Amino acid sequence: MSTTMMQARNPRSGEIDYQFEATSPSAISDLAKDMRGAQASWNQAGLAKRIEVLQQWKSSVQKHHAEIAQALAIDTGRDLVSNIEVQSLAGQIDRWCSMAPDLLKASEPINSQMVPSVSIKHDLVPYPIVGVISPWNFPLVLSMIDTIPALLSGASVLLKPSEVTPRFLEPLIESIQAVPELAKVLKIVAGGAETGIALIDHSDTICFTGSVETGRKVGMQAAEKFIPSFLELGGKDPAIVTKNADLELAATAILRGSVSMTGQACQSLERIYVDANVADEFLSLLQTKAEAARLTYPTGQGGQVGPLIFAPQAQKIADQLNAAIAQGAKLICGGEVEHHGGGAWLAPTIIVNVDHTMDLMQEETFGPVMPIMTFNDLDEAIHLANDSVYGLSGAVFSKDLGEANAIASAMEAGAVSINDASLTAFVNDAEKNSFKLSGIGGSRMGAAGIQRFVRKRAILQQSTAPTPLEAFSEIESL
Ligand code: NAD
Repeated sequence: MSTTMMQARNPRSGEIDYQFEATSPSAISDLAKDMRGAQASWNQAGLAKRIEVLQQWKSSVQKHHAEIAQALAIDTGRDLVSNIEVQSLAGQIDRWCSMAPDLLKASEPINSQMVPSVSIKHDLVPYPIVGVISPWNFPLVLSMIDTIPALLSGASVLLKPSEVTPRFLEPLIESIQAVPELAKVLKIVAGGAETGIALIDHSDTICFTGSVETGRKVGMQAAEKFIPSFLELGGKDPAIVTKNADLELAATAILRGSVSMTGQACQSLERIYVDANVADEFLSLLQTKAEAARLTYPTGQGGQVGPLIFAPQAQKIADQLNAAIAQGAKLICGGEVEHHGGGAWLAPTIIVNVDHTMDLMQEETFGPVMPIMTFNDLDEAIHLANDSVYGLSGAVFSKDLGEANAIASAMEAGAVSINDASLTAFVNDAEKNSFKLSGIGGSRMGAAGIQRFVRKRAILQQSTAPTPLEAFSEIESL
């Protein structure tokens, strides 16, 4: 059988310096068969056992921390965040292990209100195979965010991380193989679209994190197959800065919310609307902070802005900026994709004189770009913030908390941070749904995150004589 070899690029050097074999559809079919058998035992073993196994895996990941973090660092060009990705896995495991016993507790039988002679209880029945497909911007965190609750629910997990950042798979798989009971129910496959399509074919529910374009295909394949899909997609998050904002605080938070991770985060702030009365002061504060930020070139030490991970993204960002400039936009700082040492970089970019006819204000940029528009009243600000096909999240800055909350409640977005930016990146325990094209399906955050993986089976027990057929005899005419 022919094998498909794939390659990965180092975003710092620009070199294609890693090769791996894509998992074939037939190999996925074999894996899925094994997993179905193993999942039944995993579920029957009970939650306490599953917690014990996940805790063993936590220790195993800690033993492999250096190799996993190093592999992530090569693929993403980020040292600190790669270490945080690995460290945070232990926190995620602990958090779900402490919450799962309450969330998956068997219900006490209760009597039906409609037919009191019938008692009702529920079994929670996990999906046998949860498929997880993840993107390149946080390769480990976004692979695990659905995987851990799914495993605790009693499901098995078939995971396919992005082919753009594949190096961490090897050490991660080693950490899994050190825990044989886990290795039977957590399988990782490598590859791109073809592997993803085969994975969906063999899954009973699918969790997808990625672009709207691919999410649409995944959702359609899942619908054809009649399985649920949870789609966490792109965004174009707005920030509103009112005239009552602490402008220093707003500039600090907005810079971080737009520029950290080089803007390669779904919840990055990509549109900034400022009250015209305070726009000059805000812009000057933001510009000073933006110009103080440094690239992490050449050593990777110091600096805050790393290389663009995915090569085609550099061109997409440049195209958006150039088109906006051709339409009359004006750069305040940054704005040129720079090439250093084989990698593509973009310094924090502030751009004004923008409007909603520009792709820069309509399409996801996924780079450290802060386009700024002014508004004259709050209705206009809310209208502008909501004038988007996306609805992932947003931010509001105002010292008047009544005003801030009123604006937040009017925003068509699944989460709104008040007086900070992108809080959902740090706060995973607030349930949220993505609005509009940013996604579909139950919340992955908060308690609901684990409940997505179980179906409720109602057990209805009758305590009196069953109703006989004769009770439904048509009335005979006299
Ligand atoms: P992508 O859609 O290109 O790829 C995501 C994954 O889908 C990859 O693993 C890829 O191999 C796989 N894939 C590609 N075609 C497929 C197909 N036909 N069937 C099944 N799988 C397929 O996304 P990306 O470029 O890796 O990631 C960036 C995008 O992810 C951005 O739009 C970003 O906003 C989004 N994102 C969203 C969230 C969120 O929580 N909402 C978080 C992070 C990233």
